[in-house]
Amino acid sequence: MRKIAYILSFVFPKYTRRALTNFSFVLLSTVFGLGSFTMVIPFLGILFKSTEPVTEMLPWELNFDTLKHNLYYYLSEWSASDPVKSLAYVSLLVIILVFLKTAFLYLAKYHLAPLRTGVVRDIRNKIYQKIVRLPLGFFSHERKGDIISRTTADVQEVEISVIGSLAIIFKDPISILLSVGLLLSMSVKLTLVSFLVLPVAGYLIGVIGKSLRRKSARAQNKLGELLSIIEETLGGIRIIHAFNAEKRAESRFEAQNEHYTGLMNKLWRRRDLAVPVSEFLATSAIVFILVYGGTRVLTGSLDMPPEDFFAFIIVFSQIIQPAKDLSNAWYSIQKGMASMDRIDKILYAEEKISEKENALPIKGFDKQIEWKDVSFSYGNDWVLKNINLTLTKGKVIALVGQSGSGKSTLVDLLPRFYDLEQGAIEIDGIDIRDYRLHELRALFGIVNQESILFNDSIAENIAFGVEHAEREEIIQAAKIANAHEFILETPDGYDTNIGDRGGKLSGGQRQRLSIARAVLANPQVLILDEATSALDSESERLVQSALSRLMENRTAIIIAHRLSTIVNADEICVLHEGEIIERGTHDELLQKNGAYKKLHDFQYFS
Ligand code: ADP
Ligand code: MG
Repeated sequence: MRKIAYILSFVFPKYTRRALTNFSFVLLSTVFGLGSFTMVIPFLGILFKSTEPVTEMLPWELNFDTLKHNLYYYLSEWSASDPVKSLAYVSLLVIILVFLKTAFLYLAKYHLAPLRTGVVRDIRNKIYQKIVRLPLGFFSHERKGDIISRTTADVQEVEISVIGSLAIIFKDPISILLSVGLLLSMSVKLTLVSFLVLPVAGYLIGVIGKSLRRKSARAQNKLGELLSIIEETLGGIRIIHAFNAEKRAESRFEAQNEHYTGLMNKLWRRRDLAVPVSEFLATSAIVFILVYGGTRVLTGSLDMPPEDFFAFIIVFSQIIQPAKDLSNAWYSIQKGMASMDRIDKILYAEEKISEKENALPIKGFDKQIEWKDVSFSYGNDWVLKNINLTLTKGKVIALVGQSGSGKSTLVDLLPRFYDLEQGAIEIDGIDIRDYRLHELRALFGIVNQESILFNDSIAENIAFGVEHAEREEIIQAAKIANAHEFILETPDGYDTNIGDRGGKLSGGQRQRLSIARAVLANPQVLILDEATSALDSESERLVQSALSRLMENRTAIIIAHRLSTIVNADEICVLHEGEIIERGTHDELLQKNGAYKKLHDFQYFS
């Protein structure tokens, strides 16, 4: 029930009007539905003379007996004057009532559609907003495919299983209550007896519902795994071809797919158990009433004419459908709740990296950025140990060292991709965690080894992160990045789509687009993390000259593989296993004859 309240929080207050409209139409539909068939029975009794005609009318009052009495009175009048014509009238009345019932049902659904689509749209938007805000750390624990599955398959499951069922959860109890009221007014005793099956039904429904939720959770998790495999495959299709690994990839996928299929079989079998169980229970209840009530009506021990007994059974049978729908809806909701739990795992994931209240604004800095005794780990071993480093405005720091020595981590801490555990990073003497997150991040422009590009036009990719960039500015940035020439050679120039992750471009071209992006953003501090190391020497020369132009009069951190690119840096730090083991200018370090000298000699003489 708590979960239903939670789901309802997505419906109210935003869709209150829709929900109320839907609800009113459903009520109307139920009333007319009840009216239609219950009309026919007493009429048939009067028409075929098994019931005594009513000759007196009672003063109108709003209770069942008066209504019934006066209805009988009219029916008796009609059938006495012209039985055939009155049969036609009653039939017409039934048709009109049924028409109204179905028409209102449609109107109810008409208003339900925007509610259900609206709610899932809101959920999807919420998930997406959350995804783009979650810290990078979250994604090292979750698989991409699984996250995609949560935003699509699970949301759809919630739409199908939960939202549609919500209407039933509200509508059916009402029609059931109305019917039960009608039954009670006919015979309290018979009604009570006929509801003896309720506890059994309730128990079974509870058991099945719980197991459905468990099974559904497992199936949705598996679906997430499947999507992850597909996602990885799409990203690595070249490698799969290159290593002739199609068979291996296939069998890996097929095994998981098989597992998923098995889970779904179990799920459907459990789900399909629901209908027979409720059908059997309902029919048993009717038979029970027939036997119990019938014998009493026949022996006359129950004070009830046979027509009323039939009417009772017909009204009772009208409860069966909504009761079945209700238990079905309950199962669906249980099944959908498993998906809702998965969605919640994203929605309620902790945004560890958040802004303080009253965070300070920062548009630029005057003096320096300082790492003070910084130690950091991703969870197990220390990746950085006691780093002390100062980047003065207008200077260039270079970081060198083996791969895995912590260079990227050191710079990833600046825009707070990860937060520190020990030590502090200060800009102009104030901890970076005290600044506004967006403004802090805007200080840095990062060009990585992997250029992160999106499936969009060249212009859009360069202007990414800058709002309302003029075409002229984009071209200017591309020129600085040595990208203008090759862009002009593409089919649509700046409007050429570059494919998934820039797949239609070469590595060097992608890199130069990333640089153009950084140029356009014009950050206070430029971070180049092995921006050229993936390139061949010709592209590197182009990128390198683009970079030197970019670096003029700028504060920068360069992580470089090839030492030739950093000889002019103001300070070079050699990292080894998370520690700075040497620092100084190029010449100083060569004279020291230490680790840097070794790296240097290795590169120049091999
Ligand atoms: P470098 O850039 O010098 O090659 P990194 O800073 O990328 O080194 O990595 C330093 C260490 O941190 C490595 O041992 C690496 O395995 C580990 N590491 C890097 N990123 C993560 C991550 N997201 N989660 C866990 N460990 C990581
Ligand atoms: Mg790195």
